Amino acid sequence: MTSLTKAPRIGKAIETEFLAIGITSLEDLIEYIPRAYDDRREERTLLDATQDNPVINCEIAIVGATSFRMKNKGEKLFKAFAKDINGRTLEILCFNRPFLESQLTIGSTWFIHATVQRQGYEYSTSKFELKKTKEELGLGSIIPIYPISGNLRQNTIRSAVGYALENVEIKEALPERIREKYGLMGRKEALLTLHAPTSFESIERAKRTLSFIELFYLELNALRNKTERIRKSQKSGLSQIESYFIKHLSFTLTEDQESVLGEIREDLDGKKAMNRLLQGDVGSGKTLIAWISALHEIDKGNQVAFMAPTELLVRQHAENAYELFKGIGVRIALYTADIERKEKEALLRNLKDGKIDLVIGTHALFSERVEFKRLGFVIIDEEHRFGVEQRRALIDKGLNPHVLTMTATPIPRTLALTIYSDQDISTIKHLPNGRVPITTYLVDERKREKMYETIRVEFMRGHQAYFVYPRIDESDDSIRGASEMYAFLKKKYPEYPSALIHSKIDEKDKIRILKDFQRGKISYLVSTSIVEVGIDIKRATCMVIEHADRFGAAQLHQLRGRVGRSELRSYCFLVYDRDGLTEDAKKRLTALKNTNDGFLIAEKDLETRGPGDFAGVRQSGFLKLKYATLLDAELIENTRYEAERILEDDKGLIKAENSEIREYLAKSDS
Ligand code: ADP
Ligand code: MG
Repeated sequence: MTSLTKAPRIGKAIETEFLAIGITSLEDLIEYIPRAYDDRREERTLLDATQDNPVINCEIAIVGATSFRMKNKGEKLFKAFAKDINGRTLEILCFNRPFLESQLTIGSTWFIHATVQRQGYEYSTSKFELKKTKEELGLGSIIPIYPISGNLRQNTIRSAVGYALENVEIKEALPERIREKYGLMGRKEALLTLHAPTSFESIERAKRTLSFIELFYLELNALRNKTERIRKSQKSGLSQIESYFIKHLSFTLTEDQESVLGEIREDLDGKKAMNRLLQGDVGSGKTLIAWISALHEIDKGNQVAFMAPTELLVRQHAENAYELFKGIGVRIALYTADIERKEKEALLRNLKDGKIDLVIGTHALFSERVEFKRLGFVIIDEEHRFGVEQRRALIDKGLNPHVLTMTATPIPRTLALTIYSDQDISTIKHLPNGRVPITTYLVDERKREKMYETIRVEFMRGHQAYFVYPRIDESDDSIRGASEMYAFLKKKYPEYPSALIHSKIDEKDKIRILKDFQRGKISYLVSTSIVEVGIDIKRATCMVIEHADRFGAAQLHQLRGRVGRSELRSYCFLVYDRDGLTEDAKKRLTALKNTNDGFLIAEKDLETRGPGDFAGVRQSGFLKLKYATLLDAELIENTRYEAERILEDDKGLIKAENSEIREYLAKSDS
């Protein structure tokens, strides 16, 4: 890495400005992408300035000047008059640029780039750039315009970039055969083109080249990481305890569950540490898979950590685990932020001594103090709530443990392959038999009465409901809040007990409320979207989501998944306001109404909103992409294909034909 101050005219002060926008070296600078380009190839005099294109690029001579104080503010305004080669006059208004007064002397000539205003035959400008020479102004070329902030100026960046391009060694990134195959530039040519293009077509090609390089190395690194997770082989097959456990379930596993379990078991017994993503719709039985797989590891004498995103879910999972593992001697512990000190000390000791087989907790499990004796397997529920670093922290506690992440936010296949390119993917496609598909209604907010009646009938049958609102309190933009609607619903259904639940309610109360809900003591919950993840209540058959258009498709699908968790018929009501419903929102709600298939919904969401909304995308390094975007499906496929092929053929990258790749990697690793 070469210090920025190596470049002429960059001192400590300007370096600080660069640091503030994340540029720390000349190497960073050459990858600083212009946000736009200014076409200054053509000379344009005042005669050429039109309403549509009021830009001029030409030489001018100063013919007069005047300065005066503005009446109201006491600011000084300096005005110069100039003529272009056709003899037309331009008035140059210089606000707050006092230094210009001494420079724009009568008789001096300049090159100007300006946006002018015309009134009759009079031209004036207050938005201009003046330079002594053609070259300095970039006349005859396409000028890059960089994103700027603070005191950085375009010219400072341009000259620094120019210096960097000449002085930094720009390594080739791709072998010639690949460049040829895909019509790409060399890396150096691409970067030169990015900063000093000769045509707009060449910019496109340069960007494609740089995107290709970026994605290629992303894929390559992911694949290399994947092959490096080697560990010792262990024993194999379904353990006795697992068979016993499966046999004593009150239902049989679905085909999908069986095959996913097989995949996981193979990994658990294989040579490499598993890094697998288990995706499946809400209620598809993922958590059960996790428990069975946990048994498999516990049977080998390893410890298992199971993490969920909220305290609430942790408790729910722990209760399930106690119940499920009753009588088979699994030592379970619950680790949350608020357990008492004494209890915690004991727990920590037991974990360290290996006296606990399965620990269930929130991210508190990441804390420095938690040590394991033999952490063999980490299970992460609803992974989008966890940061990559947090995950890493826990993994670092064990000796390269197996990792299974579970997500109910399905991601379309092309995206999944790439985002999770360092993970293997297992999918549960079909829900357990006997589930009645959820019926979804779109409800015009002014016609809500019928919905309330339907729900009343459900209450009479002893079923339960959720009412979800985007906010806790009503706001001035007429979005209904959970608190107000709670009062409203209490009047509506005076005979049925209910509770209000949202993020500001004490954790302990939340847990008590959910317990009551689970036991059927409460008929309905009024809440914000906190019920989104993982809550499993079998007699809940109605989900009402108000201002449904305010929620993303994936989130709506998650919320809807809180009902339909048994053989009871369930309903989801998506309540919307006819006014102000956007086309996108309408499409989203209709898609939800038409299908219960999370994958299909995800595909649609990708089409309308782009990949940025997928939780997994946000987590992976993918949003940090500089050049490429995730909608470049073709580029993603091509780079992945090439990366795979190269590693298959030359895993260590030692062949001469891959020397560029080896050297480029060595450079970027350093
Ligand atoms: P997920 O974690 O995918 O949302 P869960 O594992 O919580 O799903 O399962 C949802 C519910 O379905 C649980 O109550 C679970 O006991 C039940 N379940 C799981 N597998 C089956 C199956 N094969 N047949 C019937 N019910 C099942
Ligand atoms: Mg779950």
